[in-house]
Amino acid sequence: MIISEIVTFIDTLAPFETQEPYDNSGLLVGDAGWAVKGIHVALDVTDRVLDEAEAAGANLLLTHHPMMFSARKRMTEMDTEGRLLCRMIRGRMGLIAAHTNWDRAPGGISDALAAALGLTGVTGEGFLRVGELPEALTADALTAWVSGRLRTPVRPMAQWPAARRAQRVAVCGGAGSELWEEACALGAEVFVTGEIRHHHALLAADAGMLCLEAGHFATEEPGIFALADALQKQLDAVQCKIPFTRSRAGGYACPEKR
Ligand SMILES: [Zn+2]
Repeated sequence: MIISEIVTFIDTLAPFETQEPYDNSGLLVGDAGWAVKGIHVALDVTDRVLDEAEAAGANLLLTHHPMMFSARKRMTEMDTEGRLLCRMIRGRMGLIAAHTNWDRAPGGISDALAAALGLTGVTGEGFLRVGELPEALTADALTAWVSGRLRTPVRPMAQWPAARRAQRVAVCGGAGSELWEEACALGAEVFVTGEIRHHHALLAADAGMLCLEAGHFATEEPGIFALADALQKQLDAVQCKIPFTRSRAGGYACPEKR
């Protein structure tokens, strides 16, 4: 199997042409004709992810977040991204990013987040999904529910009367707080996303909505696992024995050697 076949498969799951204009999804490093020896799936390209990928014998990284969001005019080892890019090129490691095309895709980031939270009757379009919890919960119970499901601390951004309960929840993986109004319009009383801007939290609270901030990584992790699972299934289906690994935590580790 060569890299272009993996690109084509991801394109069937989440067409690259559906990415936002500002995005940079697709094959970013390497050659479409390279034979794939192993694939590693992660949220971001970091030294730790590259360490793991190399140790596993992979020569293709599949990440959610792209690199080179803005055009580079130099490729030196003197900034983090440049250093990571040089490391990949030296090691002949390919990189495919599936970002906003995977955010909005059926089964993608926001769908996987809704599923991880146990929502049913899920609808929505774009980056937003809305569904129902198994039962109506208080603000404290909602916070605990999301925290338990995503295994992460969760910050409630509004105070509800102790007896108030809600069942209809909107979700958006990553930094989605600007969608709070759209979530309200879809009848959600609760909005779970990764990062919530202060002024969005104030406006949403004033409208009676409970925003729950669950962290960028934790709200996108279910979608990374879903992407890895879909890819693994496809490889199995074509009986392609490519070693396959995935990272739970990609970032936040300082490189040991520079
Ligand atoms: Zn993200």
